[in-house]
Amino acid sequence: MKKAYLQRIARECWLCGRNGNGDPLELHHIFGGANRKKSEELGACVYLCANRCHRNGPEAVHRNAETARRLHEYGQKLVMEEQGWDADDFRLAFGRNYLDEGGEAETA
Ligand SMILES: [Zn+2]
Ligand SMILES: [Zn+2]
Repeated sequence: MKKAYLQRIARECWLCGRNGNGDPLELHHIFGGANRKKSEELGACVYLCANRCHRNGPEAVHRNAETARRLHEYGQKLVMEEQGWDADDFRLAFGRNYLDEGGEAETA
C-alpha cells in the first residue's frame, strides 16, 4: 500500500473507536474479492478490533451484513472524494455503486 494512504488511516477501530488494547487492530480491505487489490492501491482500508469488530463479534464486519453495508458506503465515499470520482467512475472501477443499493436489485 502507498505510504501516504497508510498514514492517513486512523489507528483506531472504525467500528467502535477502540485503540487496540486487548483486542489488537487488524487492517480490513473494505472491498474484497476481485477488488481487494484495488482497495489496497486506493487506501480503501480501515482498522478494526481483530476479534470483536473484524471477525467474530455480532457486529463484526465479516459476520454482519449491515456493518459491511455501512463500511462499503463509507469506503465508496472515501474513494470518490480522494480520487475526485463520481458514482459512475466508482462503478467503472469496482463494478458496483454501493451508494445506490436500496436492496438487492441492480439495474446496470
Ligand atoms: Zn477483513
Ligand atoms: Zn472495534
